[in-house]
This record gives sequence, structure tokens and C-alpha cells, in this order.
Amino acid sequence: MIDTPSRIDSEVDVLYCTVHPSVETSLRCNKCGRPMCTKCAVRTPVGYRCRECVRGQQAAFYNAGTMDVVVQGVVSVILGAIAGGLVGLIGLGLGFWGWFITFWAGSAAGALIADIAHRAVSRRRSRYTWMVVAGGVGVGALLVLPVALLGGNIIGWGIYGFMAVSAAIGRLRFGR
Ligand SMILES: [Zn+2]
Ligand SMILES: [Zn+2]
Repeated sequence: MIDTPSRIDSEVDVLYCTVHPSVETSLRCNKCGRPMCTKCAVRTPVGYRCRECVRGQQAAFYNAGTMDVVVQGVVSVILGAIAGGLVGLIGLGLGFWGWFITFWAGSAAGALIADIAHRAVSRRRSRYTWMVVAGGVGVGALLVLPVALLGGNIIGWGIYGFMAVSAAIGRLRFGR
């Protein structure tokens, strides 16, 4: 009463990888169903998939065009400069409390700018969104550096820049 090997073999489909036709496999992509070898299989939260299907998923997730990225950059620079100027003014002459408020306001401003920049392009995403927006906020802060220097609020400026850029990154770094 022992199963013969031939019976077992007949029940297992021998497949060949679509990309590497000489490699035997028993794996199939769970999206498109094509046979794939272990080298071609990509582990995703929803099971093993072929590289092409994974690439398709990423393309659908990152749906922003070049224009969107430019718009996000410009919006971030302008708003970053305005927020930097305002926060710098609030913090002026308040000493320690000014820095305390700047710390909070910088973080809030960074998150708000990230949201606005995201909405400005109908929430389309790109691989570079977080870099462009964070960079834009940083450039905006640099534009108001002369104001901070004139006002003698260089520490407040530094706090604002750091908090705003970190908050923008935290807001927009999708799917890490
Ligand atoms: Zn597939
Ligand atoms: Zn393969």
C-alpha cells in the first residue's frame, strides 16, 4: 500500500518559468498566473508575484507626472518661504518661548505645506514627492534666511527649518 512515485509525479504539474524556460518550478504568480522560478518570484504582502505584476502595481501607485512634481516643488518653496517668514516673526523677541513656539509651529507648517502640495496635484504620488516637497520647504527657509539674520533670530530659523523639513518628510514618505 505504498504510493508509487509515478502516481505522485502525475499529480504535480511540472511548469517552466516564463522568463527562464529551462528552469522547472511549481510556483505561479498569484495575479497573472504565469509560471515563475524562485528567482523571478517577488514576495509581496498578498503573496508571490512575478516581477512584471509588481512593477505594474508600483506604476499604478506612483501616478504623478513630471508637471505634478514641478508644481509640488514650486508650491513648497513659496509656502515654505511664507511660513518661514511668519514663524520667524512670531519667534522674534520672545527668547526661549519664541523657540518653543517655533519648534511647534515649524512642525505644523511642514505638515500643512506637505498636505497642500499633495492636494495641489490631486493627491497624485511620485517616487520623488517627499524629496521635492522637503527640498522645497528647505529652499523656502533659505530664502528667508536674510530676514532671520536681520532680525537676529538665527536659532529660531534653524529650529523652523529643521522641524518643517522633517515634518514634510514624515507626511509624504509613502509606503516605506
Ligand atoms: Zn504576474
Ligand atoms: Zn525565472
